Amino acid sequence: MPEKITPDLLIERKVDHAIEGGERVPRWGWPTPRSYNGATGEERIAGWKKVAVARNLDLLPRSVKCEVCRVRDANGSHTEIYHRCMTTKPICRSCHFKVHKRFQKPERWLAFIETMPAADWVYALLTRELSRAEMLKVARAPDVFAALQMMKL
Ligand SMILES: [Zn+2]
Repeated sequence: MPEKITPDLLIERKVDHAIEGGERVPRWGWPTPRSYNGATGEERIAGWKKVAVARNLDLLPRSVKCEVCRVRDANGSHTEIYHRCMTTKPICRSCHFKVHKRFQKPERWLAFIETMPAADWVYALLTRELSRAEMLKVARAPDVFAALQMMKL
């Protein structure tokens, strides 16, 4: 974790305190997902739960547009770095599917985002999966998307 408390870590701290204080944590009702970007399926579920609590507490916006297409309502959120789960980003189902397909078809992904009015974080995403060590390093940066962008240099 970075030395300085960042906005996302402040939200996560509030969520942790709320959970310790008895805030209801929703149940994950699906099979354990595969690992992603160095985070295990169990860590992804834990992150999903914290994000759900944050949304219930209005610490994250509930209803916003997808930050990739900016057309459809965001009915989900994309978490790139699960050890910084509150850096999750609002996204629609269609764009979320494409984000997760990008490792298999990177050139298709890059062509797609070129046509989109996407937020800066979208362009920071790597087209290969991070190792656990890389993910943990990115998670220690104040701005995880800036850290991802730096990995492209
Ligand atoms: Zn979208």
